[in-house]
Amino acid sequence: LSRAYGSSQRQKRIKVLINPFGGQGSALKLYNTHIAPILAAARCELDVEKTQYRGHGVEIAQKLDIDKYDVVACCSGDGIPHEVWNGLGKRQDAAKALEKIALAQLPCGSGNAMSLNLNGTDSPSLAALAVVKGHRTPEDLVSVTQGDRRMLSFLSQSVGIVAETDLATEHLRWMGSARFTWGFLVRFLRKTSYPADIAVKVEYATKEEIRNAYRAAAANPPRTPKKQPLQAADAGLPDLKYGTVNDPLPDSWTLVPHDQLGNFYAGKMAYMSPDANFFPAALPSDGCLDLIRVRADIDRRANIACMLAVADNKLFDLPQVDYQKVSAYRIIPKNQKDGYISIDGERVPFEPFQAEVHKGLGTVLSR
Ligand code: ADP
Ligand code: MG
Repeated sequence: LSRAYGSSQRQKRIKVLINPFGGQGSALKLYNTHIAPILAAARCELDVEKTQYRGHGVEIAQKLDIDKYDVVACCSGDGIPHEVWNGLGKRQDAAKALEKIALAQLPCGSGNAMSLNLNGTDSPSLAALAVVKGHRTPEDLVSVTQGDRRMLSFLSQSVGIVAETDLATEHLRWMGSARFTWGFLVRFLRKTSYPADIAVKVEYATKEEIRNAYRAAAANPPRTPKKQPLQAADAGLPDLKYGTVNDPLPDSWTLVPHDQLGNFYAGKMAYMSPDANFFPAALPSDGCLDLIRVRADIDRRANIACMLAVADNKLFDLPQVDYQKVSAYRIIPKNQKDGYISIDGERVPFEPFQAEVHKGLGTVLSR
């Protein structure tokens, strides 16, 4: 669902980050062959840098001269945009930096969800064209607190089967995006349960409410840019409305024990891979995360139905799938060690965490 407005900026000044390690290791070649010629033809001003190690994208964004650039374009999977947003978020002028610098992904990794959703494609050349023509658009970002850390997430948080699929298949990088399908099938057949306590701040509780809210948003896309004064130079990240994972649960949250949790998946964007529209009701700046929960003790037929429904875009309608829109939640995994938690496709410790959405905190380029 396109939410872009205003006219597209010409001759954008772009900091290009290339992750030579992402996907099957061909980001540099993809950039030179399919991306650079299009950006050059559009007379974008380019400053190209390769990421040298994990976390380098965080450092580059932390030190970036934000007056010199309009866009950071990541030739990578979803990992480098994740790092760049976290780097911008660590700055003293975080609020201003997150508004000033628009992020874009030029799909060169194995997980290219950001490009699928915002550029409408995972073809590097078409994505480059979308960046040339793209409009600045606000995008919700999510604070995740875990232990005494706070990080930003733009795409997804998963515990259980989807997280394992993302993370336990690193050794299968050579497979490209097929590693996710393979990883999912293998784990799916084992039918693991991931018990947890989950507390949610619910915004839309039923599928009917979600459908209505989505239709209303689709019928009324914003036509004129909201005039926001540029954030004060020294404002960091916004305060956490609900505190951190270490604070008592807020009264307005609903606590639901899940002794049989098969899948916990929260998403901010619709497509997680080209044929998996997991979150069909996701909107870029509605202040909500879409949350999917599936019990582990549903029968095999219901489970297989879930899997087939993802590809057919019918997951939302299945009765065995809980789908809510929430603005915050906490999840506390139980009785397990060494499980998998994935934040935007990056592994974090297997410990309780809390998430809270910041409406329109980030900026992206979108069609
Ligand atoms: P993919 O979609 O294939 O996972 P990503 O762009 O998400 O690709 O990147 C995967 C990981 O590579 C990220 O965790 C990132 O920090 C890391 N990374 C970035 N640059 C390098 C490098 N030069 N060497 C090794 N890892 C890197
Ligand atoms: Mg990744």
